[in-house]
Amino acid sequence: MAERTFIAIKPDGVKRNLIGKIVTRFEEKGYKIIGLKLLLPTLEMAQKHYAEHEGKPFYPRLINYITSGPIVAMVVEGVNVIEEARKMMGKTKPEEAEVGTIRFDYALCQEYNIIHGSDSVASAEREIAIYFKEEEICANWKTMTEMIMNV
Ligand code: UDP
Ligand code: MG
Repeated sequence: MAERTFIAIKPDGVKRNLIGKIVTRFEEKGYKIIGLKLLLPTLEMAQKHYAEHEGKPFYPRLINYITSGPIVAMVVEGVNVIEEARKMMGKTKPEEAEVGTIRFDYALCQEYNIIHGSDSVASAEREIAIYFKEEEICANWKTMTEMIMNV
C-alpha cells in the first residue's frame, strides 16, 4: 500500500540553492511527487506544524527559522515512503546522520538542517493538511512504469 508523506525543503535549503538536488533525490528513488509548491509559511502554519515542540527551548528560534523565507512543500507518495524518506534525510543532527544522507551531505548544524519529513502516518496527514488544499494534490496520474505495465 502506497503511503503519503509531507516533505519540506526548509528556508536554508532554498537559500542555498539546493531545491533541484533535493527534489532529484526523491525523483531518482522512484517516488511519485503528487504535490509541489514554493510558499512562505505564515506564523500560524509554522506554529501548527511544530505544535509538538511548543515550550521547548529551541521552539522560538525554530518558528523564526521556518518563517524566515520560502520553503518547498511536497507531498510524496510511495510504498513505505514515510520511513524511507526519514532514512534519506538522515538524523536531526547532521553529525549523527549517515554519510550520503541529505542532512549529512548538506546541513551545517542541528538547527538549520535543510529538510523536514513526517515521522508517522498521523503526522503526514496532519502536515499535508496544513500546507496543501485537497485540489492542489495531483494524485490521479500514472508513472511511466504504471503506464507501460498498464496497471
Ligand atoms: N531543532 C533545533 N534544536 C533541537 C532540536 C530540533 O533547532 O535541539 C529543530 C531542527 O530544525 C529540527 C526541528 O527543530 O529539524 C524539529 O525537531 P525534531 O526533533 O522533530 O527533528 P526532525 O523530526 O526534524 O528530525
Ligand atoms: Mg520531527
